[in-house]
Amino acid sequence: MNFQELLQFIDLESKRLIQNYGQNSTEQEIILARTVKLTEELGELCNEVLAFNGDQREDKLNKMDKNNLPNELADVIITTLLLAKAMDVDIREALKNKIEKINNRC
Ligand SMILES: [Mg+2]
Repeated sequence: MNFQELLQFIDLESKRLIQNYGQNSTEQEIILARTVKLTEELGELCNEVLAFNGDQREDKLNKMDKNNLPNELADVIITTLLLAKAMDVDIREALKNKIEKINNRC
C-alpha cells in the first residue's frame, strides 16, 4: 500500500464513520470524538508496549497476544490521519515539512 492509497482509505473511512456515527454531529463534535479515539488507541498501544517489554502483571501478560502490537500501531496511525482529515490538515504537506525540518537539524 502506498501513501496515496492510505489517504484514499482514510477518505472512505471518514465518510463511513460520519454516516454511521456522526450524521447529526457538528464539525467540533467529530474532531473531539476523533481526538478521544486517538487517546484510546494510544492507551491500547501503550498496553502493548508494556507487554512487549514484559512490564505487565503476569496474569495480564498471559492474556496478551504478542501479535497485536502491529495492529495497535496501525490504529494510532489511522486514527491520527482521521483526525487530520476532520481538521482539514494536509497531512502529506505536514509530513513533508516536518521531515525537511528534521533533516535540516542533522
Ligand atoms: Mg486499537
